[in-house]
Amino acid sequence: MFFELSEAHKEFQKRVQRICEREVSPLVEEYERKKEFPLPLYRTFGAERLLCLRCPKEYDGPGLDKVSECVCMEELNRICAGIGAGFMVHGGLATDPILRFGSESLKQTYLPRAVRGEKIGAFALTEPDAGSDAASIRTIASKDKDGYRLNGSKTFITNGTICDFVTVAAYTDPGKRGIGINLFVVNREDEGFSVIKKLRKLGNHTSDTAELAFDGCYVPRERMIGEREGGGLEQLEETLKSGRITYGARSTGVGQATFDATLSYVKQARRHGEPLKRSQAIRFLLAEMATSVEVMRYTTYRGAWLFDQGIATMKDASMVKLFCSESVQKIVQKAMAIQKAAGLLMENPIQRFLRDARLFKIPEGTSEVHHLVIARELGL
Ligand SMILES: Cc1cc2nc3c(=O)[nH]c(=O)nc-3n(C[C@H](O)[C@H](O)[C@H](O)COP(=O)(O)OP(=O)(O)OC[C@H]3O[C@@H](n4cnc5c(N)ncnc54)[C@H](O)[C@@H]3O)c2cc1C
Repeated sequence: MFFELSEAHKEFQKRVQRICEREVSPLVEEYERKKEFPLPLYRTFGAERLLCLRCPKEYDGPGLDKVSECVCMEELNRICAGIGAGFMVHGGLATDPILRFGSESLKQTYLPRAVRGEKIGAFALTEPDAGSDAASIRTIASKDKDGYRLNGSKTFITNGTICDFVTVAAYTDPGKRGIGINLFVVNREDEGFSVIKKLRKLGNHTSDTAELAFDGCYVPRERMIGEREGGGLEQLEETLKSGRITYGARSTGVGQATFDATLSYVKQARRHGEPLKRSQAIRFLLAEMATSVEVMRYTTYRGAWLFDQGIATMKDASMVKLFCSESVQKIVQKAMAIQKAAGLLMENPIQRFLRDARLFKIPEGTSEVHHLVIARELGL
């Protein structure tokens, strides 16, 4: 057993850290305030080949592995979870189904431009009446000439107002619950596609979230992902398996940032004339936080390694998502307990980490859903 990142991964990590410090850090406060995604970052990260990291060279991608993707996501989320959310959806949920299950022509059309940050992707599964239970979506893709007409609405869609294309889940056969779903790529300019409204959230303010409508939106057959009708749910599950491991990296990044900020606070704060770091209660809390971050990191990179070997199961991915997204809640609560009133100040990043971390329990399977998946895989 070997628990270190390889030399190549360490070099990559240093490069991502330098780019995040130089390009992302200076933008965070301004764009958090504006509640907008800093769009120029798409071109910057595209030029650095830090979007769609697992996309192979033949589509202009860097062709890296899942471990690298987690390294990048951990570093990015250490600086800003909202920006991490946008890039995660673009390089994962929106483009992964095209890369893994799409035709060669779909790949050539969408992937190189997504890799370079010239086109932004979104992914639309959730609906006003269908969240955790994906099989209960109501968006329909009815056959029309050489393609399909999509009718339905989607909500909580990351990159919704800024996307150029969106990978959408819809029923080609609503009679076959779950099995009759397909994924389609819809272009922003397609007639019948519209953004209903931008949604305001508790956290991840720099990530763009929207409600979308598909009103008789025509999509040619070539933009259906996969060769046959049905099977979209399996494509979704494979895509989500990867995304759930990425959530481990996102949680680890926010956990590390919270720990770092709290440690530096404790090192300079004084209470009753004594340095705060002398308090055993405070020292114990910091020791617990540091331990949690380390365990989250090992769990995540083990999951990423299993994914790279092609042997990660749904249970592995669910365990990473459940453990890490719940652990980061405890870390931010401990940081708040240590900093008390100071933690509530808007200029203190701890309040942002608390709000951002809370959202991690919901997308790509809520904590309750991951309990169900793990229990089922345990044969219960
Ligand atoms: C910040 C953010 C970004 C998102 N981005 C996207 C995106 O880009 N694309 C997209 O399609 N969606 C996105 N979503 C939606 C997200 O995937 C859903 O919110 C999630 O699947 C949960 O659905 P829901 O909110 O409708 O809750 P529900 O499914 O209605 O669940 C409500 C509650 O019931 C629990 N529950 C549900 N089913 C069960 C069960 N069988 N047993 C026990 N408990 C259960 C849940 O855990 C939860 O506590 C995003 C959400 C957020 C918060």
